[in-house]
Amino acid sequence: MYNSLFEVNSDVEKCTRCQLCETRRNTVFGEGNSHAKIMLVGEGPGRDEDEMGRPFVGKAGKLLDKMLTSIRFNRDDVYIANILKCRPPGNRDPQPQEVEACIGYLRAQTALIRPHIIVCLGRIASQHILKQDIRITKERGIWREVKGFFIMPTYHPAALLRNQGWKRESYADLLSIRKKYDEFAGTSANSEE
Ligand code: SF4
Repeated sequence: MYNSLFEVNSDVEKCTRCQLCETRRNTVFGEGNSHAKIMLVGEGPGRDEDEMGRPFVGKAGKLLDKMLTSIRFNRDDVYIANILKCRPPGNRDPQPQEVEACIGYLRAQTALIRPHIIVCLGRIASQHILKQDIRITKERGIWREVKGFFIMPTYHPAALLRNQGWKRESYADLLSIRKKYDEFAGTSANSEE
């Protein structure tokens, strides 16, 4: 049980729970607004993220920034993290035992931040958060309510860089995220009246 994100990060920085500790340059804990109502979760750090110790800083990260801007958010409005805190070599998919070893940190982050909305970026993040196989092209954009969180799978920005044809669907998902956020904002404003 953790009392702060700082405590979780301290454990991540010295973590040796899986083999990825041997090849990482830096751990990538996550960053953003620790009271964010929206949490974005990707799969794991890539090369640029491993070098800088920050999530989504490469080309995909720049696209993610543009995606957020398109719905009037910036990084300070959200919290961004990954399923894995260390880079899988060559950007291979995470292995099940790596996810099992690491996902407790994400759960701890989620419990401390307590977002209303969790956006799963890509198939891998979606399947581990929703605990089921996900076909991202079929199930993106669909909201599920799980344990009080509203969760939506959508495309990973790196996939959008490879498949320009998915941008229209991705934008529809972004608008849906904005709408859901505004619904919560309206609800909490009303409850304060
Ligand atoms: S990926 Fe997660 S479990 Fe594995 S060493 Fe890094 S922090 Fe620890």
